[in-house]
Amino acid sequence: MNIGICLDKSDFLYDIHSLVKSFFPDDDVNIYTDGDAEKCSTARDLLLRVNIPDYTDRKTAKDRLKRELYESLSDLTGRTLPWGTLSGIRPTKIPMKMLEEGMTREEIRASIRETYLASDAKIDLAVDVALNEKRILSEVPAGPDTYSLYLHVPFCPSICLYCTFSASPVSAWQKSMDDYLDAVILEMERQEMLGVLEDPGKEPVRYSAGGRKPVTFYMGGGTPTSLSPEQLDRLLTAAETNFDLSGCLERTVEAGRPDSITKEKLEVLKKHEITRISVNPQTMNQRTLDLIGRRHTVEDTVRAFELARKAGFDNINMDIILGLPGEELGDVENTLRQIEALGPDSLTVHSLAVKRASRLTKTLREEHMAGRTEDYSRYEGLSFYNSEAIIGAAYDAAYRMGMQPYYLYRQKNMKGGLENTGFARKGCECLYNILIMEELQEIHAFGAGASTKVLSEGGRIDRRINPKDVKTYLERVAARR
Ligand code: SF4
Repeated sequence: MNIGICLDKSDFLYDIHSLVKSFFPDDDVNIYTDGDAEKCSTARDLLLRVNIPDYTDRKTAKDRLKRELYESLSDLTGRTLPWGTLSGIRPTKIPMKMLEEGMTREEIRASIRETYLASDAKIDLAVDVALNEKRILSEVPAGPDTYSLYLHVPFCPSICLYCTFSASPVSAWQKSMDDYLDAVILEMERQEMLGVLEDPGKEPVRYSAGGRKPVTFYMGGGTPTSLSPEQLDRLLTAAETNFDLSGCLERTVEAGRPDSITKEKLEVLKKHEITRISVNPQTMNQRTLDLIGRRHTVEDTVRAFELARKAGFDNINMDIILGLPGEELGDVENTLRQIEALGPDSLTVHSLAVKRASRLTKTLREEHMAGRTEDYSRYEGLSFYNSEAIIGAAYDAAYRMGMQPYYLYRQKNMKGGLENTGFARKGCECLYNILIMEELQEIHAFGAGASTKVLSEGGRIDRRINPKDVKTYLERVAARR
């Protein structure tokens, strides 16, 4: 469907667009102001007219306008949205502030329900996350004078069809993986390069850890365990040589893909005192794994998890994605049953974003056209479905495993207007995830696509992102040797 929104003034464009998009996630939504009278009058499937009232207080006017628009859209579609008119990526910010002001859970619930029309279930979830976050942060030294260390490994055994992380397949980079390690190690040795690789024309901005110890260490990707045991050892040794990791409250390696995890690599991680790893199934249904190009089996996941337990890892995370092609409640329940049988220490529940779903559909079609999939008919008519019942089943499983929600974020156009939530047993939470989400400290990040955040002189967070493309990254590092 092609939806037009005609506004009499150009205020609140973004908020109005994202609210309408939440009701029509799969449709084209275009926004026009009266200046575009001709476009406004072009016949469309649906044309909405919104009049912006005069106002003195911008926030009150915006909240009211969104409520009115929400109610009209809800009447029109017969639907409500779990998060009501809330559209930001961090809905927990609101209850967090209210808790700091001393409001009770009941008062917070009433206020959010009235202002944003969110459901009680989502408000309670947000309050629970805010309370857990507050508890965890009270025990962690966080502040502008602290920092965490991040290393990025962009390689993966194969590229999942829905990947949006610019991952690079091991097969294409095998010969250059050592060059990549050389570059990351050089970046760590020469910290004055930190965050200046994004633009070769830019003057170096000299940041430095200045004798501080990182609070947490996180190696992410990609799939860090795509590296060989020797390469992993080399990278972790370089991190220990260039930084004093003795003060780290956690050391995480996002092992991720089960097909990349071996006994030897787990031993290397143990030797370097890695405290937390991920073994990410995404789904425990083989048919879905085959569809999304993960190229590993359900048994690989079980094997990798059991290997990790045997190697002594007592803090293992598992990631799942809801809304994968063709998966309905029964499929998700099967995944959850198998995960509960393994008993991880934390579970991250992701909802597939619409953009990823449509990208996946497009990729499946292209794969078929290029003759790389034998039978496109098995992809046709597949639904990408997520619902409160499905996400509710995932949350129930997390609670049954003794976990609590501790971080939550939303992306644009998530299936069913839902959210991504991290659950963990007490003491097994990923501190780095909270620190990065709340922007509570500096992040010194190394590797292709790594995003460094440092405090500028004015107290603002200055963000610099290394080039995502591995070749460009290597060239930029080489240019600064
Ligand atoms: S494992 Fe993650 S980073 Fe690697 S290809 Fe799949 S989605 Fe992308």
